[in-house]
Amino acid sequence: MPDAPTDATIAEIATLIGFDTTSRESNLPLIDHVVERLAAVGVEPVLVPNADGTKTNLLATFPAADGTVTGGVVLSAHTDVVPVDGQAWSSEPFAPEVRDGRLYARGSADMKSFLGVVVAKLPQIAQATLAEPIHLAFSYDEEVGCVGAIGLVDEIVRRGMEPRGCVVGEPTSMRIVRGHKSMNVFRVDVRGLAAHSSLTPQGVNAIAHAAELVRFVHGVADEMRLEGPFDDAYVVPFTTVSVNRIDGGIAINTIPAECTVHFEFRALTTVDHEALVQRFRAECRRIEAAMREQHPGASVELTTTAAAPGVDTPADAEIVAMAASWGAEPSDAKVTYGTEAGLFAQAGIPTVVCGPGDIAQAHAADEFIELDQIARCESFVDRLIADLSTTA
Ligand SMILES: [Zn+2]
Repeated sequence: MPDAPTDATIAEIATLIGFDTTSRESNLPLIDHVVERLAAVGVEPVLVPNADGTKTNLLATFPAADGTVTGGVVLSAHTDVVPVDGQAWSSEPFAPEVRDGRLYARGSADMKSFLGVVVAKLPQIAQATLAEPIHLAFSYDEEVGCVGAIGLVDEIVRRGMEPRGCVVGEPTSMRIVRGHKSMNVFRVDVRGLAAHSSLTPQGVNAIAHAAELVRFVHGVADEMRLEGPFDDAYVVPFTTVSVNRIDGGIAINTIPAECTVHFEFRALTTVDHEALVQRFRAECRRIEAAMREQHPGASVELTTTAAAPGVDTPADAEIVAMAASWGAEPSDAKVTYGTEAGLFAQAGIPTVVCGPGDIAQAHAADEFIELDQIARCESFVDRLIADLSTTA
C-alpha cells in the first residue's frame, strides 16, 4: 500500500482548504471550483441551493458506459468546516502546512481530504468504462446539524437514482463504520408572568416550571441508562438525554417571566423517536396547563431546532463487503458522532461511514491528517473505480 499521497491530490486538498467554508460563510466559491473541475471532464452537476441562494449542495453523476444513471455508488462529503474562533493554531488554519508526515489545516481531517481525493480523481472516473454510475453528493451546513443534506438526499430520491450504496467520507481512519446514533435538539420556551419577587402570588415563575421540565428530561435519561435499550458497540451503550443550556430571569428581585431550556437526545435506532418526542411534548403540555391555572397567558412551547437520524447498517449489507473489498478496514465499532449517513439510510440507501483521518483531530486546534491516511483513501477510491468498471 502506498504511504505517500500523490502531489495532485495534495494540491487539490490544499485548494479546497483555501476556501474558508466555515458554516456561517458561503460555500459557493468552493462549489464553483468543483463545478469547473467537473466541467473539465464533461460532467454537469445539479445544484440544490438553500433558500436564499448563499450556499448549495452539489450532485453529480458519472453515468455507466451504457448511459445508465441509476444504481451505482454515492460518495458523500460535506463542504463546510467548524469555526477556528478562539482556538490557538500553530499555523494558519486555511493555509495547509505539511510537517512530520501530517497535513495541518482546518478541515484537513473533517473532511476536505476525502473531498480532495475524490475531486483529484475526477479525470480518472471520467475515463473509466463504468459498469454502473458513480455519484458525488457534496453538501453544505453539515456542521450545524446536517441541514443541507436533507435537500440533497431528497433530490436523489426525487430523481429515482436508487443507488446500491453510499460511502460518507467522514474521518474513521478508513475503518468501516456501520452505525451512529441520531441527534435531536430541542428548545423549550417557558413563559410565565413577571412580578416583584415579594409578591409571589401575583407572578408565575418560569424558572420554577422550567425546572420541572429539567427534572423530567433527566428522569427519562435515567430510564434510558438503566432500562435500555442497549447496544454494546457504542462507548455509551444507551440513548443519552441531557439538558445542556438554560437561560432565564432578569433580576434578583423579579419573578422571571421567561425561561428557555435547551436539551437533546442521541438515540439508538432501536428507540421509537416519535414516541420519545411525544413524551416530552406531553410533559410540556402538563406544565403549561398547571401554569395556565395561575395565568391564562402562560405557555410552554417545544421546538425541534436540529435533528439528524441515526444509522445502523447490518454487518452483512452489500455496501459493507464492497467497502472492505476496496481496502477499508472492517469494524464492529459504532461512533459517538453524527453524520449525514442517517439521512441516506433513512432514504433506503445502504450506507457506511468511511474516510481518512481521525475524528479525534476534527474540530480541534491544529487539526491534522496523517499523509498515509490520504494515500489509503486514494487507494480506496482507485479500487472502487476499478470495481465499478467493466472488465471487458
Ligand atoms: Zn464532518
